Amino acid sequence: MSHLVEHMAQLAGQRDPAALDSCFVDLFAELLAPLRLRVLRSHAAEQRKWYVTRHHGQFDQLAPDAPLAAEEEPLLLRCITLGEPMLLPVPAQQSDIRTLVPLTGDSDEIAVVEITTSTVISRELLRTVNAIQRFSMHLHALLDENERDSLTRLLNRKSFDETFVRAALNLDASSTSAAEGLERRRQGTEGSHWLGVIDIDHFKRVNDVHGHLIGDEVLILVAQLMKSTFRASDRLYRFGGEEFVVLLRCNDAHGAETAFERFRHTVEKTPFPRVEHLTVSIGFTAIDASDTPGSAFERADQSVYHAKENGRNLALSYETLTACGLLEAKNQDGGVEFF
Ligand code: GH3
Ligand code: MG
Ligand code: MG
Repeated sequence: MSHLVEHMAQLAGQRDPAALDSCFVDLFAELLAPLRLRVLRSHAAEQRKWYVTRHHGQFDQLAPDAPLAAEEEPLLLRCITLGEPMLLPVPAQQSDIRTLVPLTGDSDEIAVVEITTSTVISRELLRTVNAIQRFSMHLHALLDENERDSLTRLLNRKSFDETFVRAALNLDASSTSAAEGLERRRQGTEGSHWLGVIDIDHFKRVNDVHGHLIGDEVLILVAQLMKSTFRASDRLYRFGGEEFVVLLRCNDAHGAETAFERFRHTVEKTPFPRVEHLTVSIGFTAIDASDTPGSAFERADQSVYHAKENGRNLALSYETLTACGLLEAKNQDGGVEFF
């Protein structure tokens, strides 16, 4: 019992869904002593493709990240809708029992834990699993409420600093320290990150001509286009007003440019209800290990400003602008850098 409370205390202190997954794996592993278990997550922006975030126990020939059989995938969604533990049918010539437990309610990002045991989980244990699962749903809902912008459901500005530091240092939930992340960057084994600032062009006109409600609809549609254009591994924020931010994970500058240019083009060719034609100006920059959220944001924002000054509907890289002498490079203190 005291172990259970210990786990609960640890869970309540987490602010990151991936860290929550780790805690739930530890908790269910201790409570049920299963043969194996794994957390499957899925994001609406990735056509509900399921992927494994955490696993525990012996998988033998079976890879921990092996997908469920195609006919079983709808069961994961059914489990989320059902909102309680669900026993999977046992295929012929197999004796292991698999139970699905939903960790989240129905939202953009959903998670289910698949628990494999040698016997059916007892009624009493199942009641505890049920209570833990409801606790998980409340935790995820709280996390969501705290981190997201209420109009677009994108991440809000408040959650930016924490995720920025994790992204800049290339930490994921399994990493234990910032020092480890820094070491990875030094060794060149990190994935690179870019920060992009997206600002809708002449948005004030949308409000003035069509009213605030249509303006809000435009903001929601732009957010939806962001969700469908960028990858699930990219983090999308609304910083307030008609300004959006993307933390993009990408291997090189060319890839980043392609991603931001693709989004600019998508907005340009999308017909918006009533407004019809809309464009965005984008500035982006490579994130450095020594960056603060503010310093990287300022570089991207300077590039947006440059785009606004030069006709709008552009996606411009800070590094390209400074290399071409179109912008002055700034050092971390905001001063001009001399080479
Ligand atoms: P630019 O191309 O230079 O970016 O021009 P702009 O008109 O987009 O920029 P400006 O910053 O002058 O105007 C932004 C407008 O966004 C002003 C404000 O009325 C509107 N706005 C800010 N927040 C919201 C919101 O939540 N909903 C709606 N509908 N409008 C908002
Ligand atoms: Mg603006
Ligand atoms: Mg604007």
